[in-house]
Amino acid sequence: MSNKFIFVLNCGSSSLKFALIDSQSQQQVLSGLADALGSAKPILKIKYQGNKETIELAKNAAHQIAIDTLVERLKRFQLDESIIAIGHRVVHGGEKFQQSVIITDDVITQIEQVSQLAPLHNPANIIGIKAAKKAFGQLPHVAVFDTELHQTLPEKDFLYALPYALYKEHGIRRYGFHGTSHYYITQQAAKTLNIDVDKLNIISAHLGNGASICAIKNGKSVDTSMGLTPLEGLVMGTRTGDLDPAISQYLIEQLNYTQTQVNVLFNQQSGLLGISELSNDCRVIEEQALAGHQGARLALDIFCYRLAKYIASYTVPLGRLDALVFTGGIGENSDVIRANVLNLLQIFGFSVNEQANIAARFGQAGIITNESGPTALVIPTNEELVIAQDALALTQQEL
Ligand code: ADP
Repeated sequence: MSNKFIFVLNCGSSSLKFALIDSQSQQQVLSGLADALGSAKPILKIKYQGNKETIELAKNAAHQIAIDTLVERLKRFQLDESIIAIGHRVVHGGEKFQQSVIITDDVITQIEQVSQLAPLHNPANIIGIKAAKKAFGQLPHVAVFDTELHQTLPEKDFLYALPYALYKEHGIRRYGFHGTSHYYITQQAAKTLNIDVDKLNIISAHLGNGASICAIKNGKSVDTSMGLTPLEGLVMGTRTGDLDPAISQYLIEQLNYTQTQVNVLFNQQSGLLGISELSNDCRVIEEQALAGHQGARLALDIFCYRLAKYIASYTVPLGRLDALVFTGGIGENSDVIRANVLNLLQIFGFSVNEQANIAARFGQAGIITNESGPTALVIPTNEELVIAQDALALTQQEL
């Protein structure tokens, strides 16, 4: 039987990540990313059979050109005819989308309506969907939402202490994101710990450029750190995370910021970058902190402290903790941050196994604590696989 592939697309405002996944082996056959789309020097990077190719796209080339160039390569590699479905990451599904769906014109309209809640994310996702539909018009396209997993949040968690009418009439509530990653981590942790998923209690810390943490009780999301938008919660690469909302008013009224400048400040100039005045890249922050850079040290301290406080607070909904799991670029690779966070949580008995902690990196999973205390482990995430699995399941239902 010939191989069948699912093509997974994750479209940002100026970037596009993609992966071609074998439906049988679940392995990535091809992957890559288009970056700096719409700028003077957009590029497309493709990894296939151990080769890495970088293609310089035409000046100002945007998503459609990137996808068309990619399709041309897929044809050249004779992979295009084996694609049976396209899976799209969509950041915000609001309360409308409780699960993944086959994308129809009606679904696109509904995603556009939800876009009011995620103006920085959903419009880019829709651009990707439309460009991919032009290129792969005959194939089923499936939307997989970051918010799906968190539909199980209880009201006492997802409601802000605002007048209730703002939720009822305008949908202002916490939604949570990174659902595909926290879902994958839950499934893998259950296997690793040999506990049935529906009995599993974990805290999943997804630490990448965007970062969020999720309390999973009996296999279901019961609390998570991101809110109405992916700005709330942990300190991130360039995002503030939790903030006194009055700061926004202060910046506008006292420091003459415009609302747009405030949005840019909170989303693109804060977090590790803002505190360190150096970089949003955690590797640079760690290197420079070690070299004595004060801003980098402070950024690292604040990042770890906020994260540890969130982890401690999630013992409230969980009661019993089977494991704390680190994932995402930082969670999978930074033994320094993992050790710092676990040391801040010594009150719970966490004890770092230094050798195991250093060994768990570059895709290597592992338990990083000593048996004397609670378990912390590293699991590399695989959001593309979750999107591919959902796309495959829905497509097969349709057949
Ligand atoms: P995204 O949210 O863009 O998917 P990733 O999950 O790829 O982000 O994570 C990117 C972050 O991971 C960056 O801050 C990067 O510096 C960090 N990172 C990657 N490798 C390492 C490493 N070896 N040590 C520390 N941080 C790392």
